[in-house]
Order: sequence, then C-alpha cells, then structure tokens
Amino acid sequence: MTDSLYALLESRFPNDRSKVLLETGDGGTVRYGEAEAMATKMARALSDLGVNKGDRVAVQVDKSSEALVLYLACLRAGFVFLPMNTAYRPDEVDYLVGNAKPAAIVCRPADEETVRGIAAKHGAPHVLTLGTDGSGSLVEAANAAPVDFPAVPCGGDDLAAMLYTSGTTGKPKGAMLTHRNLAANGLDLVETWHFSADDVLLHALPIFHAHGLFVAVHCVLLAGASMIWLPGFKREEVVRLLPRATAFMGVPTFYTRLLDGDDFNREVCAGMRLFTAGSAPLLAETHEAFQARTGHAILERYGMTETGMLTGNPYDAERRPGSVGFPFPQVEVRVTDDQDRPLGTDEIGGIQVRGPNIMKGYWKLPEKTAEEFTADGWFRTGDIGRIDDRGYLFIVGRAKDLVISGGYNVYPKEVESVIDELPGVVESAVIGVPHPDFGEGVVAVVVPEGDGAPDEDAVIAHCKEHLANYKTPKRVFFVPELPRNTMGKVQKAQLREEKATLFR
Ligand code: ATP
Ligand code: MG
Repeated sequence: MTDSLYALLESRFPNDRSKVLLETGDGGTVRYGEAEAMATKMARALSDLGVNKGDRVAVQVDKSSEALVLYLACLRAGFVFLPMNTAYRPDEVDYLVGNAKPAAIVCRPADEETVRGIAAKHGAPHVLTLGTDGSGSLVEAANAAPVDFPAVPCGGDDLAAMLYTSGTTGKPKGAMLTHRNLAANGLDLVETWHFSADDVLLHALPIFHAHGLFVAVHCVLLAGASMIWLPGFKREEVVRLLPRATAFMGVPTFYTRLLDGDDFNREVCAGMRLFTAGSAPLLAETHEAFQARTGHAILERYGMTETGMLTGNPYDAERRPGSVGFPFPQVEVRVTDDQDRPLGTDEIGGIQVRGPNIMKGYWKLPEKTAEEFTADGWFRTGDIGRIDDRGYLFIVGRAKDLVISGGYNVYPKEVESVIDELPGVVESAVIGVPHPDFGEGVVAVVVPEGDGAPDEDAVIAHCKEHLANYKTPKRVFFVPELPRNTMGKVQKAQLREEKATLFR
C-alpha cells in the first residue's frame, strides 16, 4: 500500500498510453506512455548516482517537457522536488542550496560552472544539466538507463516537494509539501473544476511555482487530459492556440495583456469552458472587461505555496469580481481576531485555514512553523479578509501590508479601490511609510492612463470625499507601471523602501 502522489496520478493515467499528454507550441508531442517511460529512466539514472528517497533534487531550468518529466521522476522515486525561480541570480541559488542541502542540482547548461561552484561550497554531490532542446547530462544519463525503476512506496506524510514562497514579504521560506497535501488538493480541483479526459489545457505559466506546477499540471494528470505546453506567456502564441484549448490558467497580468488587442475576442474563446486566475488579486475592472469581450467570467481562486488552493469562485454559480469565493471541499476557512476567535459576517480579520492540503511546516524553521499554526491546527495565512453573508471570501490585503496611521488600521485595498474608480487611473498601490507624528503615513503610487489622468491634489480630494481623513494618502506619486514579479505580484516592499525617508 502506498500513498504516493505518483501512484495516484498513475492510477488516473489513460488506459491507452498513446494518448498525448502534452504538445509543444511547434507541434512536438509527448504521449503518456513516453512520459512514464522517460520518468522511469530518469528516476533510475538519479538513483544510480546515489540519490535516495527523501533527498532534495533542486532544479533551476527553463520550462520544457523534460523538466515536467523530471518532476514525475522525482515523485516516482520519492525524491523531494525543489524547483527554483528561473530569475534567481547565483546569490539566491547559493542561499537556497545552502538551506536545502540537495543531493543533486539540475541547472541550465549555461549555468553549469557557476552552479558547480555553489554545489561544491555546500557539499551537494551531483550537478546535472538540462537544456530546453532535450540536451544536457540529465537526459543523456536517462537515455542510457534501462526502463526499470519500480515506483517507490511513500507514506502520505513523506515529502513530495519543497517550494520556496515568492519572497513578497521577506526572505523566501521553504514549504514542506507532502504526498497527501498535493494529492488532496489536486483531487479537490479536478472535481470542483470539472476536469475530464476531453480537456486541453493551454499551459503558459512557469513551473517553478505552485500555480503552474501543481494547480495546472495536477488537474491535467488527474483527469487524463492533455495540454499545450508553452515555454512562457507570449500573447500572440496564446491567442493563436486558445481556439484549440478548453481551459486556461493565468496570473492577472496574463489577462490584462490578452485584453490588450482586438485579436483576442469571442471567436478565439469559442471552445473554452474555463479561465482561472490567481497568485495576485484580479482587478474587478479586468474581470468585467474580460466578460464583456469574451462572454467568459474568469474564475478567481486563492491559494498559497504553503497550502495549495484554498478558495475559489463557484464553477456553476456567480463568480464575483473582487471575491475569491468559497473553500474547496476539503478546506476549512475562517476569519479571526488577533486572539484567534472567529469573527462574524463582514468583520475584517486574519484568514486562517485547515485541511489535508496544508504543508507539514517550514523547512528548518520550527519556530516560524509553530508561530503560524494555532494549537488546534489552523494555519495563519497572513492575509486579511472578510466573509460576506453569502459565504464569499474577500481578501483585503496582507497583514504585513496593513498600514497603521495614528493608531488606526488602514487596509490598502480599500484606499486603492477608491483611487482606481477615478477616470484616468489604471491601478494603484497604497503603502505605509515611517512618519514622525503618525507612526506610518499613507502614500499612494498611481499608474495614470492617457491625458485625462488626475494630479496629486485631485487624487487626494477624491479620497477625502470618500474616506476618513486617516485613510487619505498624504502624498501621491505617479509611475508608468507598478513593480511586479513574474507571478504578477506587486512588490510593495520595494515601494516602501523607495519612499522610506519621505516624511523624515
Ligand atoms: P512570501 O510568503 O514569501 O512573502 P508570497 O506570499 O507572495 O511570498 P506565494 O505563496 O506565492 O508567496 O503567494 C501566496 C499569496 O498570494 C497569498 O498569501 C495571497 O496574499 C496572494 N494571493 C494568491 N491568490 C490571490 C488572489 N486571488 N487574490 C489576492 N491575493 C492572492
Ligand atoms: Mg506568503
């Protein structure tokens, strides 16, 4: 008996293994049977090198079909898959390798020398390479290995993967995810989102993050479906290939970019049944513009590296702009005060969650882990929200972004929503920066649109009209765009740093 995620996935693979698992944008295909055989060979090759069950395999490679097969190989062998953001520079890789102590590192061929240096420094025994064209020593070793490596039995509590959080609010933390965590969440999603063998998912997300790796890939694998596998998000490619797909998952910036041209329209989306968004808040305006253009209501969902997917707008009922919907079947969600007491309808507080999907803990951070779980097993997400009378969850921001000005709590989202209503404003980010009198002063950073954009005084006057004085920004700055990472997350820490001495 094994509770390994691999065993679950394999039990859902189509009986006819010649079915296409993925197709690359240029017409290449990988069938289920081929992926299975290659994963077996890769697992065998890594195992022959001396990588054992429970060892971390750290991976920093560009997206390719082989990179996905490597993930499957790790699951099959009980290795802990540890993907790293492809944008990480050597210093960041050094930090993660030193922290995670992997048995093997797989890197891009061009980075081999640098990574060998890092591996030597931290005693990581093996460095292998993987290029996007199937080149590199990993595939060479796999090609030379026999198709002979029985799936290693794993318990539900064994680690399947370790993903570092995005580092939006501090240094990235390693989230230890078990086979049970990933299996439970994957099953919730396929069921809730009605994935079937007939689906074709257009996959344009990176696979070093939970969104592209777990949410998207597990829905496809657990349904025995297919996907079109793009190396990244390129607007023209997505518009060209959407007519052949049934489902698409994106971060909010994918959707604003798709809307940025008339060639994206109803006809392009005629065969689609599902668009989902997450990783960062989807502006209500984007949701509405998308629906007007395509007839599809984007299904926004909410999740974290540590927890997988927590809530989502309903498949069959109203998908409300600005809301992240209801808990997935196996997940419990509550909003609490700072004493962990559940709050009532529409009261704002910390979002806490519980379920088989919640990580085992933060890697090598027992104190941080203990801090983030209550005695009765609820995990503190660090997000602030409210649940309305119909049970829809609304996120109002992150606890770390909360501004406390003159002793009053200011929820940035509330102020941003007021500013965003103004004609000539695309979007805004509200932050708190040190202030001698108020502790923190509210500051708005605004992205203007066209010539009709308001000036600083107009933004402040508008806020005064709709918000209490302490919530009104003391200063307003205009920028062509907000700083974002690849997952579309606004980098507020960077903005706070830039404005740190404003009132001093
Ligand atoms: P770090 O924990 O290192 O500061 P991070 O929290 O950004 O980084 P992730 O685990 O990638 O790292 O992101 C999870 C967070 O993303 C959530 O806690 C939430 O703040 C935000 N998020 C995800 N989906 C949504 C959504 N639909 N709407 C608003 N926020 C979302
Ligand atoms: Mg986080």
